[in-house]
Amino acid sequence: MTLPGQTANDQINGLSVDVEDWFQVGAFEKVIDRSDWNSCTTRVERNCNEILQLFADAGVKGTFFTLGWVAQRHPSLMRRIVQEGHEIASHGWDHERVFRLGREAFAADIAKARKVIEDTSGAAVTGYRAPSFSIDARTPWAFEVLAEQGYAYSSSVAPIAHDHYGWREAPRFAFKPIAGSDFVEIPVTTAQFAGRRLAAGGGGFFRVLPYGFSRWAIRQVNREDERPAVFYFHPWEIDPGQPRVANASMRSRLRHYTNLGVMADKLGRLIGDFRWGRMDELAAREAGRTVAPPSALAA
Ligand SMILES: [Zn+2]
Repeated sequence: MTLPGQTANDQINGLSVDVEDWFQVGAFEKVIDRSDWNSCTTRVERNCNEILQLFADAGVKGTFFTLGWVAQRHPSLMRRIVQEGHEIASHGWDHERVFRLGREAFAADIAKARKVIEDTSGAAVTGYRAPSFSIDARTPWAFEVLAEQGYAYSSSVAPIAHDHYGWREAPRFAFKPIAGSDFVEIPVTTAQFAGRRLAAGGGGFFRVLPYGFSRWAIRQVNREDERPAVFYFHPWEIDPGQPRVANASMRSRLRHYTNLGVMADKLGRLIGDFRWGRMDELAAREAGRTVAPPSALAA
């Protein structure tokens, strides 16, 4: 039986949290230097505890893509995430974008993050999400580095043109970026509308736009494309009590602070309206039905 608001399909979508604190977001990087992070009031553990409660109440599991920097300072949070049945995965060390690191620095960044996340959580890390979806046409080597280090999957591509990120030519669904390897990339969800791709995987789009848009988009992906959706959000997005950054640009402040107070309710609706699960399990299922990789990788 399908209850009102529920979908009739049985796709299990990917539920993911990018675990970073309010002062670590890309929008504030010009006004809050990494050297100042230690003096900022941390909110990430408190906010993740709220998210863990929300997930527990709804009976859903998800994936927490975590900064190594956060894992090092919040080991008890890492253990709690694993104890409650969620996947712990990597979001890199300190949110530097992949295309700014270069191949060697990227290899060092993800190795350092993985070691700390595994040591603190007690669980193996096999998944990775690039900060600000920063794997794109400039960084085809990033997938090779991830596979070399034993990662099974990444969810680091936004197959869309956006002012801060995106790889417009990338496919919308799972692909194997390395010939002869089972390593799989699961792009974040987009919806197709009137010949255009729309970002529909979460973040600011979910928070700012009416909930109906996200519900429509995920239904489209589940029913028309017959694929699971990949949804993401951040701990600071459910936290109206976070410190305000006064000297950021108006645009950054609008993006960051709009609708923080309604986010928890919106998330609750989203979680109730669809089926959700961990990204590692989604990646394993999608690995059997991948599409052709972007042409930039064929060279
Ligand atoms: Zn992030």
